[in-house]
Amino acid sequence: MTGQHCWGYGEDDGPSEWHRSYPIAEGERQSPINIVSSGAVYNPSLKELTISYESCNSLHISNNGHSVMVEFDDTDDKTAISGGPLEVPYRLKQFHFHWGTECNQGSEHTVDGKSFPSELHLVHWNAKKYSTFAEAAGAPDGLVVIGIFLDTGGEHTNLNRITDALYMVRFKGTQAQFHGFNPRCLLPSSLDYWTYLGSLTTPPLNESVIWIVLKEPIRISEKQMEKFRKILLFSAEEEDARIRMVNNFRPPQPLKGRCVQASFQS
Ligand SMILES: [Zn+2]
Repeated sequence: MTGQHCWGYGEDDGPSEWHRSYPIAEGERQSPINIVSSGAVYNPSLKELTISYESCNSLHISNNGHSVMVEFDDTDDKTAISGGPLEVPYRLKQFHFHWGTECNQGSEHTVDGKSFPSELHLVHWNAKKYSTFAEAAGAPDGLVVIGIFLDTGGEHTNLNRITDALYMVRFKGTQAQFHGFNPRCLLPSSLDYWTYLGSLTTPPLNESVIWIVLKEPIRISEKQMEKFRKILLFSAEEEDARIRMVNNFRPPQPLKGRCVQASFQS
């Protein structure tokens, strides 16, 4: 172990090696999982998800060496989600993507064994109970991540603002201003979801996440997907190697007796 930054998605430092530095990788509520749709339990008492992103304020876009991320001003509750399985509202902190090299892989969650080309994660934290994001990230009810599958199809015009900004953050460790982007435009029309208790899917893999995975994927064009694969790099500008940022996903982890609930009847 050479420190907390020493992980990635390569052969030597990829998901199968993470447990060496982060033993929780083999814990009881790890994510992602394969969602078996027939095994999900419909819970009629699950409320509809309320997503109030009206007055959200995006700050910047960055390449953290593992993904491309858009961060938000989270100093008050103006951007919150509530309802669903949640007892209190959770504030939006950031969103980021996971993707593959081809369209048959890339998502972290899978549904009945099927992968999607990409998965969007909207990360929220419990500011009612915890005073900082970091504190929430260490608590069993600290975070909520909404997972949205991206499938290939027609162009998603709202995603162009992001794909157009990728050139500014090609290299690991770079950041650019990114104001006025409302992730509401990335939600599918149906907010039907599966929910279960899990973890961060990247080190430190904290078991602090209430997962809400939307059933309906959004569609983006193959050309848009290619921009993620071709523009972004795992490597920093000063490094000699130029390593494309692809396959930045963790494969499904054992369910270990957990129950997946569905907000809808299949
Ligand atoms: Zn993620």
